[in-house]
Amino acid sequence: MQQRTARVERPLTYALPEGMQAGVGDVVRVPLGPRELFGYVIAPPREAPPRPGVRPVTSRIDGAPAFDAAGLALARWIALRYCCSLGEALGALVFAAALPRVVDRFELRAPLEAAAFPKLPPRLLRLIGEDFAEGFAPDALLRHPEARRAGDRKTLLAALAALQRAGVLVRRRTFVAPRVGAAREKVLEATEVAVAGPRVRALVELVREAGTLRRGDALLAGFSSAIITRAVRAGALRETERAAVMSRARAARERQDFEPTAEQVAAIEAIGSRVAAGRFAELLIQGVTGSGKTFVYIRAIARTLALGGRAIVLVPEISLTPQTARRFEGAFGDRVAVLHSGLSDRDRFESWQAAARGEIDVVVGARSAVFAPLPDVRLVVVDEAHERSYKQDGVPRYDALAVARERMRAAGGTVVLGSATPPLEAYAAARRGEIGWVRLDRRATNQPLPATHVVDLAAEFEKGNRRIFSTRLVEALGERLARGEKTVLFVNRRGSAGFMLCRACGAVPECARCSVSLTVHRSEGLMRCHLCDAQRGIPSLCPACGAGPIREFGVGTQAVAEAAQTLFPRARIVRMDSDTTTRVGDHARLLDEFGERADILVGTQMVAKGLDFPAVTLVGVVAADIGLHVPDFRAAERTFDLITQVAGRSGRARAGEAIVQTYAPTHPAVAFAAKHDFDGFAAGELELRRELRYPPFAELVYVGTIGRDRRAVAAAADRYAELLRRVPGVEVLGPAPYPIARVNDEWRYRIAVKADDGTAVRHEIRETLQPLALAERAVRLAINVDP
Ligand code: ADP
Ligand code: ZN
Repeated sequence: MQQRTARVERPLTYALPEGMQAGVGDVVRVPLGPRELFGYVIAPPREAPPRPGVRPVTSRIDGAPAFDAAGLALARWIALRYCCSLGEALGALVFAAALPRVVDRFELRAPLEAAAFPKLPPRLLRLIGEDFAEGFAPDALLRHPEARRAGDRKTLLAALAALQRAGVLVRRRTFVAPRVGAAREKVLEATEVAVAGPRVRALVELVREAGTLRRGDALLAGFSSAIITRAVRAGALRETERAAVMSRARAARERQDFEPTAEQVAAIEAIGSRVAAGRFAELLIQGVTGSGKTFVYIRAIARTLALGGRAIVLVPEISLTPQTARRFEGAFGDRVAVLHSGLSDRDRFESWQAAARGEIDVVVGARSAVFAPLPDVRLVVVDEAHERSYKQDGVPRYDALAVARERMRAAGGTVVLGSATPPLEAYAAARRGEIGWVRLDRRATNQPLPATHVVDLAAEFEKGNRRIFSTRLVEALGERLARGEKTVLFVNRRGSAGFMLCRACGAVPECARCSVSLTVHRSEGLMRCHLCDAQRGIPSLCPACGAGPIREFGVGTQAVAEAAQTLFPRARIVRMDSDTTTRVGDHARLLDEFGERADILVGTQMVAKGLDFPAVTLVGVVAADIGLHVPDFRAAERTFDLITQVAGRSGRARAGEAIVQTYAPTHPAVAFAAKHDFDGFAAGELELRRELRYPPFAELVYVGTIGRDRRAVAAAADRYAELLRRVPGVEVLGPAPYPIARVNDEWRYRIAVKADDGTAVRHEIRETLQPLALAERAVRLAINVDP
């Protein structure tokens, strides 16, 4: 049995009462000291003589097991690799919403009189008094956009505490049942049995055309229950039950039937033959933007299904790639489940369970879909494999690519990594012949890659142009508008500007709790911290020297959209960033709007992914440097990826162009991206990585210490660095403050550990550092393996 709630965890042994059944993956309620907890069964029960001190399991929670033996093995691997506990690893792969939980809820004792609390944010009081009047979980409140507008986390928590003290709110701790239960639905299928009667025959005909039809849809189509029952009794229709899959396959499907190009044929064959071989294999599909990789995946999956296997497709973020999701739905209909963040827990859980029962053959989803409980998975496709969102940014900090590899290694399946800009680790492995490698160098539509021009912003500035857009970009934009073609403008930052800077003393207003500058949001009239969401008004005089005039520097999406509107008053402009896409579906709606009626789409990274609009013939990268100077060994790689991906949105159906504005026109990440030369970029970048001993030439682990007391945090980091230096064969750098040294009022120090083989490092972390850290009160340990 594995405890789920304690910080240190180790397996515990419990007795199984007479008559109670429990097996691996079951959730049980058990006593621990004076408390009751939930835990997972991680070993099958065995006969043993009664032992003193071994207490019995209180109860077993109904429902299908949360994981199976293969899932448990995968979780054990994750725990070892990423230095987390088995419970944390299991937490990543079980469907959390389906488990009973211990939750805190706030309940209103008395009506909330806002006037009684003049010091508390009125927005918050209104929210609690109206939307949350029925009681609420603190997290749900804190996440609510209206609450976030009312104040930062600390303010909100303080307000809740004040309301508690005043006796208006009470906090209750409760055990709650799973939030989801399986709804089931009846589905009809036609047989070969003939039947008499025009109504019944019409019904059978309808079902036959549809393939399968829900009973509910047959009723909607005007057939009575009696008719349906008659058809079933006569044997002309077969009725089965399955988990209701409401949200699946409802969206407009996109069916694509092309003649594959020669390059696509080769790629499909390369995947298909590996899947057929039934041994673990990994394959890199390096295909330029628009080379038709999605179509390759679809055909390869169809082959996998024909071989009796199933498939998982990982995409960076479904809400960002609705077009891709529709293509899979178009190809596999009811046999595909698209798990996106817009689904309710219940919908997701139903898909999850249907997958576990083998009623689904293909799961498409973001990072966590790598854990989908599909049986017989023989192919995992990771689309846009270079995306950093595959690495979880929180415990357990797993990398979905590595997990996919491990899962397929155990199952004898194939992992396919697809990208126009492959992760350098995979590219290097492909070059060395360690994994398969297929290239698609031409676009499927036979259009050339967009002609890409680099504009030197420094030169532009010297010529006297201080605006956001270079002369070249303005001209190109004007041409597109005149021709009725579309443009995508990519900006790496949301908000109206970068930051405020005092002309007199050079001060930049920073967040009081994080060491980053505040971003100006003109339309709301405030500055915001993009890390902790703290906000302040925009000063007119420098808060530091009190005298200097203070101005905005840098550009964000809002400023770009406004500048474009000023230049072209009649242009229809859509802005897409995390400010305009706060609700589920905003994304797809904005994209539809752009596709149907707008001329210009201004957006952040969000617009870089998977968009396929034939009318886009111009892409402008407003400032390509922003990501270039961040202290991350992947900065150049990420910049190259971004430029390539964004530029790739251009000219998919007719000749297109991309204009890249930058202060660093000769930087390899910019220059090679403009030439569409991945190999050139990779050669130089890999050479640098080799010299500096970064992945893929070494394994890297970041060991961080975090806490409020800066001295304690730094001292702990020193001690840990000393311990790590004793591990043979490792190189230890630091400790040094994180690139962002303070977040949410906590200081952060970091040690970088490099090793040819990280096994010994991870062992030291698990066996020495983590137990030591548990005894520390003021400092937390944060481990990031393979960052
Ligand atoms: P990628 O993911 O490689 O950037 P997509 O899969 O989005 O490329 O495909 C680019 C475009 O090419 C899509 O509009 C797709 O419908 C089209 N396409 C794919 N394969 C073919 C083909 N064999 N013939 C014609 N068009 C194709
Ligand atoms: Zn902050």
